[in-house]
Amino acid sequence: MKLPKTFAEFVGNAHVVEGLRSAAAAGRLPRSLIVLGPRGAGKYTLALMLTMALECERQPREPAADGRELAVFCGECRNCKRIAESAELDAKVEEAVAAREEMRETDKKDTRVLVQTHPDVLIVPPDPPQLLIKLGQIRTMIGRAQYLPTEAPAKVFIITSAAFMKEAANSLLKLLEEPPNYVHLILLAENLGELLPTIRSRCAVAHLGALPVEEIASLLAERRPEMNKSERELTARLSEGAFGRAMRFDLAEYAAARNDALTVLQGAERAGDHTALFKMTETYRAGAEGQVKTVALMGALSSLLEDMLLLQAGAGERMRNVDRRAELQRMADTFSFDWIEGAVRSMDAVQSGMRRNLLRSLSLDALAVELEGVGRS
Ligand SMILES: [Zn+2]
Repeated sequence: MKLPKTFAEFVGNAHVVEGLRSAAAAGRLPRSLIVLGPRGAGKYTLALMLTMALECERQPREPAADGRELAVFCGECRNCKRIAESAELDAKVEEAVAAREEMRETDKKDTRVLVQTHPDVLIVPPDPPQLLIKLGQIRTMIGRAQYLPTEAPAKVFIITSAAFMKEAANSLLKLLEEPPNYVHLILLAENLGELLPTIRSRCAVAHLGALPVEEIASLLAERRPEMNKSERELTARLSEGAFGRAMRFDLAEYAAARNDALTVLQGAERAGDHTALFKMTETYRAGAEGQVKTVALMGALSSLLEDMLLLQAGAGERMRNVDRRAELQRMADTFSFDWIEGAVRSMDAVQSGMRRNLLRSLSLDALAVELEGVGRS
């Protein structure tokens, strides 16, 4: 990921971003802050840009249209440059995991995956392979928060997926409640419902809302000129108002997953006929590639089912898979509301099962059987 050079280049939610920058300039940025928004809305990007603004050696300011002072970062000083290196989050996490693999067995289990490219800024990602925020990671954070910053004005901690925090969350509460006056905690989450009420109640929330389809489609016209008009509109709808997702969206890959998802649904439509379904799930069994495909299939299934619910509710203008409208309308007429709701629930169960590292093919087969079982109209 490349960080925008200025806040002006951050796409969407200008009002929210200005509010945060104005608070930062006045030294009033909430010390425990949740940045909320769908995948691809720019939560991590914004968190890093805010961190640079807090930590920049030059502490530059610029005036807003209404005269307020807004925090900026220079992007050139040693603090800005080192923090910007954390933008490549996936690569940094891989490095940390690889370093841990090199260790002796006894040291491995006490070593938590953390990303740190500046001594006063600590990024806490979900720890693979379980992808949870671990108690050890939170303890490290708490320990570091006891010390004053050494090279920048503040200590900043960013938890990149706060929803993946289970028992570790309780240990964090005291720090969230009363962070030292040189500490900033930034928690990223897709929706508030995934966070414990005890976490939510201790934080301010900055919400990055979805952008309108038209806005994303017109941004795509500039930035992904290889797409034609209908591809842009479809991508804008499928990325659910998240500009980052729209920029990365691989329409061909999605179309392949969606074809399989439609096969699953057609199998369910012809209740009792497992053949097509099992043929398809066979291809999903092997290794890491199987997992990627399974995640893509689940995503496609979700969006098809949600579109069917929208069609049933007479809100077809909000559907995402506009290019498959006729087929989805037929299915929406066949399946009952309860059936679709049941399928959405089963999928949630499969997805959380996958997170717990259950046998993927097993839970996928279970889903297939269940899809055929729940109340058809
Ligand atoms: Zn700077």
